[in-house]
Amino acid sequence: MIGGTTVKDRYSATLAAYRTSTNGAKSRKVKKMRLTEVEAKSIIVPSKLPDADYVVNPYTGCEFGCVYCYASFMGKYIGEDISEWGNYVSVKTNAVDLFKKDFPKIIAKGGHPTLLMSSVTDAYQGVEKKYELARGILEVVASSEFEGRFEVLTKSPLVLRDLDHLSSIKNATVGMTITTTSDKISRFLELRAPHATRRLNTLSRLHDAGVNTYAFVGPLLPHFKFAHDELNDLFAAIADTGVQTVFVEHINMKKYIQERLNPQIAKTSSEIQDLYNGAKHKEHREELQAIIPELLEKHGLRLRLNEVLYHDSK
Ligand code: SF4
Repeated sequence: MIGGTTVKDRYSATLAAYRTSTNGAKSRKVKKMRLTEVEAKSIIVPSKLPDADYVVNPYTGCEFGCVYCYASFMGKYIGEDISEWGNYVSVKTNAVDLFKKDFPKIIAKGGHPTLLMSSVTDAYQGVEKKYELARGILEVVASSEFEGRFEVLTKSPLVLRDLDHLSSIKNATVGMTITTTSDKISRFLELRAPHATRRLNTLSRLHDAGVNTYAFVGPLLPHFKFAHDELNDLFAAIADTGVQTVFVEHINMKKYIQERLNPQIAKTSSEIQDLYNGAKHKEHREELQAIIPELLEKHGLRLRLNEVLYHDSK
């Protein structure tokens, strides 16, 4: 008890304020996006991720600008500062040609590998409407005899445009990142990404079209520690789309990520700021992930990789 109220009561009030503090997000001034075109040297890159052999990233940078994004380090390869993540996109204009050239070599190696598009950008951000690089890559896979798995991870309904190719690929899977059912919290943290509710709708439509789907609940937002009902709602909404598998990942609090995350969280109450600070600690992760098995069972969902993922936060 704190001053006659339970910790949970105290956070209920705080969470209400958190939702209100996200209300102004819509009117945030957005810097003009810088777009450059480059010729990449490679497009299919061996991966260190636990569930992918290769990653394919047709763009560097991501206009969705999520404040918790771990991929902001990518800027160093093209002379961009961490703080600029979300304000630039570098288009690998030769991505499809490179993929056409290198994909047969991957097939020839055999072993049914898994390719993931994309790991450090969103292949279905707005510029994809013009450049159609993700679409071109899917077209190459769809017209091949590929026996491995081709996965797409995105936050964008634009992926529905490519249902024709996705339906023709033998083992195509689309993952949609969904961190909350609240469009306000989504807009606050995932600055220019499509609303959470649109992503849920996209998952439903993919599932109805017969495409393998999963939801990526990452990062597991720290406030869920005191809002189990909200986390329950999120899992329920995911299960309602027909999805049966979820990835769940703790928030990554590496120093360079906090450079972009902290100024945004500073706009919330001190309690929410404390929650985010506390998310660096093992106790936080243990407490939060203890809720997951019950929710998985309740909503009939399977946890991919059988664990809540965590990247070391040094
Ligand atoms: S959509 Fe993905 S890659 Fe893009 S900013 Fe958000 S987390 Fe980063």
